[in-house]
Amino acid sequence: ATEEKRFRDLHPRSAALAEDAAGPLLAGVPMPWMTRWPGAFALTVDSASGARLVDVDGIEYVDLCLGDTGAMTGHALPQVAEAISRRAATGLTTMLPSTDATWVAAELARRFGLPSWQFAMSATDANRFVLRFARHLTGRPRIAVMDWCYHGTVDETLAVLDGGRVVPRPGALGPQVDVAATTAVVPFNDAAALERRLAEGDVACLLMEPALTNIGIVLPEPGYLAEVREITRRHGVLLVNDETHTLCAGPGGATAAWGLQPDLLVVGKPIGGGVPLAAYGMSAEVAARLAGSMLGHEIDVAGVGGTLTANALALAAARATLSTSLRDDDFAVATPLAERFTDGVADVIEQHDLPWHVQRLGCRAEYWFCPPPRDGAAAAAAVDEEFEGFFHLYALNRGVLLTPFHNMALFSPAHTAGDVDRHTEVFGGAVEALMG
Ligand code: PLP
Repeated sequence: ATEEKRFRDLHPRSAALAEDAAGPLLAGVPMPWMTRWPGAFALTVDSASGARLVDVDGIEYVDLCLGDTGAMTGHALPQVAEAISRRAATGLTTMLPSTDATWVAAELARRFGLPSWQFAMSATDANRFVLRFARHLTGRPRIAVMDWCYHGTVDETLAVLDGGRVVPRPGALGPQVDVAATTAVVPFNDAAALERRLAEGDVACLLMEPALTNIGIVLPEPGYLAEVREITRRHGVLLVNDETHTLCAGPGGATAAWGLQPDLLVVGKPIGGGVPLAAYGMSAEVAARLAGSMLGHEIDVAGVGGTLTANALALAAARATLSTSLRDDDFAVATPLAERFTDGVADVIEQHDLPWHVQRLGCRAEYWFCPPPRDGAAAAAAVDEEFEGFFHLYALNRGVLLTPFHNMALFSPAHTAGDVDRHTEVFGGAVEALMG
């Protein structure tokens, strides 16, 4: 209650704008996830630059949310702003290729090790296209995902295991598509379960994050990803790495960092520098099987792509982003900051002798209020919304923004060691407040 009052007292202008928004905007926000921020209403943002965000009440925050990874580069990179305004004056969308498309595809090929690329509006969109291609190539009806995965709002992926049965993700909107018919679900870090399920022979592809990130970070156990590759190959199942979040592991995501060899790969969010864009890449073998039927008009393109897909604006922004950001040099700054975060939080946890845990993947880190979970179901069971809500509100009230959907703290080259230490101090304060 004290933190709620403090929140209201700090944000009179956001409060007034939230009241205005309650009429024309469903639930008072332009997008449902924005209802998930702590506090009685969502803050309205005035501007964001580098590692800082300023709300309409003039309060500045250390931004560890970075648009839930959409702004992993840090906000408002000058080169990206320049490319966007140049493109705005020369045409944004034409339904013909712009000069930047080939450059961006070649750069993605260099980073991720897959030779052939296409674009999409969002990672959700890209996943949808990839699943369709996989079913087309294998003639098999079903897709496989990890229990408690998240791959965007793709119907078939909103499924979890319940006592061995595949059921809709709890709380998912609307009468669901019949996920028991479309989807196989397996626990992360369990090669034997994957082997058993794929042996049934009805799965087109396995869509997975190399490390789970959406229910908190769950890292793969040693050898697990090699087994996944071997099992999928043996059963003729295409392996799709969704690197949308695991791009935090390095310039070519976990795929390059850990030497993985997927058949297809999806990456979205920050690659357009904040302009909606995602991309999917494929092996030479997959590309060879698709290109012919696309050029020969044997595939109805109504199943993939879209009017604004691969528009000139998004590709100009992506070229500026990938040529100046998310490179080795950038991770060489951002990753040690995440390490400093992990060390600082771990020290507080140790000082208070708590059974909590902090996990890191590249420039991203998250803490758990329990020992590290091994799979998605354990992670989901460990989520404590009340605890998280308290920590997030406590931090927000002291000028530090964490991602509300999980405990994510994401670092860019624009952050400093001082920003990390500020969070550590706030985290320590929250623990003390909680302990009374
Ligand atoms: N894939 C992964 C791994 C994600 O975490 C997300 C979103 O959080 C998506 C796909 C969907 O991205 P978008 O919401 O930009 O479509």
